Amino acid sequence: MATTIAIANQKGGVGKTTTAVNLAASMAATKRKVLLIDLDPQGNATMGSGVDKYDVDNTVYELLVDEKPVKDVVVTDTNGKYHLIAANSDVTAAEIKLMEFFAREVRLRNALKSVQDDYDFIFIDCPPSLNMLTVNAMAAADSILVPMQCEYYALEGLTALMDTIRQLAEVVNPSLTIEGILRTMYDPRNRLANDVSEQLKQHFGEKVYRTVIPRNVRLAEAPSFGAPAMYYDKSSTGAKAYLSLAGEIIRRAEKRDKEEQAVNS
Ligand code: ADP
Ligand code: MG
Repeated sequence: MATTIAIANQKGGVGKTTTAVNLAASMAATKRKVLLIDLDPQGNATMGSGVDKYDVDNTVYELLVDEKPVKDVVVTDTNGKYHLIAANSDVTAAEIKLMEFFAREVRLRNALKSVQDDYDFIFIDCPPSLNMLTVNAMAAADSILVPMQCEYYALEGLTALMDTIRQLAEVVNPSLTIEGILRTMYDPRNRLANDVSEQLKQHFGEKVYRTVIPRNVRLAEAPSFGAPAMYYDKSSTGAKAYLSLAGEIIRRAEKRDKEEQAVNS
C-alpha cells in the first residue's frame, strides 16, 4: 500500500512546491517508488521536474474529469527519477468541471485505488487555496504535510489551517492525520524565526519535524534547471535537508507500522 501525503497550506510562497519536488526526488534516491501529483494549475511542480507543462498530452484534468487511468496520464521520465502526473492551466477548468459530478470530492481517491501497490509514496502538491482540488487531495491522502515559514503571523495562520483541515476531514476523510509541520526557508540568525520556531514546538510538539529547511540558493534556482536540487548539486545544504526530511518521514512511517502491528497482534 502506498502512503499518500498531501503537501498543503492555503498560503502561497511557503515552499509547498519546492518541498513536493525535492522530497519526491529524495525518496526516489532512497530507492522508493514515488508518484508526484501536481494539482496546481500553475504547473510549477511539473516544470520543476523537468517536464514542459505546455507539451504534455495528459494532466490531472484527464485523470479527474475524463477518468483516464493513472497509467495513461503518468509521465515516467522526469529529472527527479519519479513518476509525475502533470498540471497546467487546463487544470483550472477541471476545478470547475468537478462541480458537475456526483461524489466530486473523492475523484482523486478513486483514481488512485488501482496504483496503491505500484508506489511506496504518493505526494500531492496542492494549490494555494482551499478549492475542490485541495478537497480532493485531502480526501485521497493518508496525511498532510504543512510547510510554513517562521514569520510573525505564521502561528495564527497555522491554527486556522489546522481547524479547517479537521472540519474537512470529518466530512471527506475521518482518518486523515497531520503528517508533520515543516519549517522552510529558515534563517537561524533571525531572532523572530527562532522565537516562532520555539512557539511552534510548544504548540505542536512532535508534529514539528526535526529537519529544518534552510534558505538556500540552490533550492531557489533548481526550477530554472528543471531538476530537483539533489540532481544537480547534491552536496548543497538544501538537497541535504530534503534527504534528511525523507529519512525522518520513513522512520515515522516505520514506527507507525510497528505500533499498528503491535495493536493487531
Ligand atoms: P509554494 O508552492 O508554497 O507557493 P514555492 O515552493 O513555489 O512555494 O516557493 C516560493 C518561492 O520561494 C520560489 O521562488 C522558491 O524557489 C523559493 N524557495 C522555496 N524554498 C526555498 C528555500 N528553502 N530557500 C530558498 N528559496 C526557496
Ligand atoms: Mg506551489
